[in-house]
Amino acid sequence: MCGIIGINKNLNVTLEIIHGLTALQHRGQDSAGIVTFNGNFKIKKGVGHVSNVFQNIDLEKYQGDCGLGHVRYATAGSTEAIDAQPFAVNYPFGLAMVHNGNVINFNSLRKELNEEHKRLIDTSNDVELILYTFAVNLEKNDLQNITVENIFDAVEKVQKSVKGAYSVLTIIANQGFLAFTDPYGIRPLIMGKKETSTGVSYAFASETNVFDYLGYEVVRDLEAGETVFIDNDNNVHSRILKQNKPSFCVFEYIYFAREDSIFHNRLVASERVKMGKMLSKNLKKSGLKPDIIIDVPNSAYFFASGLAEAVDIPYRRGLAKNRFIGRSFITPNQKKRESVVKQKLNPIKDIIKNHKIAVVDDSIVRGTTSRHLVNLLKKYGAKEVYFISASPQIKYPCIYGIDMSVKKEMIAAEKNETQIAKFINADSVIYQSLEDLQEMYSDFSICDACFSGNYPTGITKDLLEQIETEKLKSNRV
Ligand code: AMP
Repeated sequence: MCGIIGINKNLNVTLEIIHGLTALQHRGQDSAGIVTFNGNFKIKKGVGHVSNVFQNIDLEKYQGDCGLGHVRYATAGSTEAIDAQPFAVNYPFGLAMVHNGNVINFNSLRKELNEEHKRLIDTSNDVELILYTFAVNLEKNDLQNITVENIFDAVEKVQKSVKGAYSVLTIIANQGFLAFTDPYGIRPLIMGKKETSTGVSYAFASETNVFDYLGYEVVRDLEAGETVFIDNDNNVHSRILKQNKPSFCVFEYIYFAREDSIFHNRLVASERVKMGKMLSKNLKKSGLKPDIIIDVPNSAYFFASGLAEAVDIPYRRGLAKNRFIGRSFITPNQKKRESVVKQKLNPIKDIIKNHKIAVVDDSIVRGTTSRHLVNLLKKYGAKEVYFISASPQIKYPCIYGIDMSVKKEMIAAEKNETQIAKFINADSVIYQSLEDLQEMYSDFSICDACFSGNYPTGITKDLLEQIETEKLKSNRV
């Protein structure tokens, strides 16, 4: 998963993009990068957090009036600097691109680009595949007189040949600024605008919290398959070129996004409270009577407090979190992950001792966090521990960019609830029911493939195996 931002016609673009990336840091901690345009592209990217990569940046050198930024959590490819975004090419115009998502037909695209178009793809980053596919289609036009139609047409070709989830931002040198999503709109992309001393500046970002921070007003979410092109005179052209059934990733609401962000008019925090309240159904059904309900900070707070309110059991903060340690799941391998979980959370002893505790987390994937926490709570005197997952059982790989792409990683793919409870040493495990979640979104079209196995783009067994093999090759399991 990644975070992207693009800003057009703003003289303070470099600093605003770096600040915007800081607001998106939770979406990726492997690498960060920016590109600005001022007659030519200036790219700075590197491995690590935004604050490290841009620590000594010479703002003068990167001055421009439009730019792109990216934070990366490598779900495909390596974590090396060479794979960090943005990427740029010099033909048929200067093109710079960032994306969030995951391309699933990478092997066939790479082959086609190599064999038919003689483009050598240097990295394992799939933004290159999108960039070259766009470039070879744009190249077919009269390059002296590129029109908006030509640009829309090249995007449509991308949307037809590139399968998967992608939200993309592109600067087309001296032509304009482009934003588009895949035909299912799986990954978020929101448009914003603000008045600056030199006129209206448009911006695009993965989450609306960026706009709050930078003083942009939200215009709207891009629709599934929508393309927005802003020409050099700042005219906005938008069109839905290729749309299939919209399928917004529900895991954005559950886990990935920050609680203060809004997608499709739904505030993430409020969605989590609703899901928390919905969990009361399964808690009541279980007949369990916890003394208190605690959360796994920070993403589970709204689920836990929503549940506590619905069942009238006190919510407490039962775990202290070291704020300076990153997301454990985002660490590249299991050994590091376990050590991060250990350093990250510690019980607040008197709250835990002699109590029957219901601990709520957003999800159980491999069971690393839950097993560690249950043992910790018991060690510090919890009488009983019930582990509650705000999401349904994760049983199927996410092929669209959430880092859950190897089936054997998923505890619920192989085990039933009793076996999971045993594995994580809990007295009971309660999950959100998939039907309840689907009911909650009956008026809004979501992707719930990781729970249901229904992949909106369709998927073959072969492709699933290829994705899994790539993932294993990247040494991040
Ligand atoms: P696990 O420890 O493998 O069972 O994973 C569950 C924990 O990781 C939960 O605490 C979640 O908050 C977090 N998590 C779940 N899915 C993801 C993801 N795709 N990327 C990062 N963190 C995640």
